Amino acid sequence: MQRIRKSKKISERYILCIPKSEINKIFNILKGKPNESCGVLIGKKLNKQKYSLTNIIHDNKPIDPSKFGVTRNTKNVYPYVNAIVENSEDDIDYIGEWHSHLNGNCNYSNIDLISMRELMRDPDYKFPVFLILIILKFPDQIKAYLFKKQAYQPKNMEINIDN
Ligand SMILES: [Zn+2]
Repeated sequence: MQRIRKSKKISERYILCIPKSEINKIFNILKGKPNESCGVLIGKKLNKQKYSLTNIIHDNKPIDPSKFGVTRNTKNVYPYVNAIVENSEDDIDYIGEWHSHLNGNCNYSNIDLISMRELMRDPDYKFPVFLILIILKFPDQIKAYLFKKQAYQPKNMEINIDN
């Protein structure tokens, strides 16, 4: 029994690879910001356990930014996402969302959970069966969560920073 449980755990490891340059870029954006920041993620699924992030897009005109929350503006980020996806030879696409937390930690809030679930159910989006949520806190905290359509709770992802 022990062995079965152990092997199940290993199969549930999820890894997110992020280029160091993208991490640095986003923490520089968060520096000194009085309100929460947000944006979208571009990348691709490499295999069952491994996901690769290529671009972190910052929404510089979000809706209602405050110390406690922010709403990403689809109209504002869409042209950036489109340009990157169209011009890439790689098979990348929109794969999720990110935002900063000013207080507390990088754990997802109930509101984060609800908005990610709503996003996954939105018929206007032709999403893959997963979405990634990254939560950052200046100067160096970062957490990533994998949301799957069939799973109620998101999975914690390990972050691999590529040079
Ligand atoms: Zn949050």
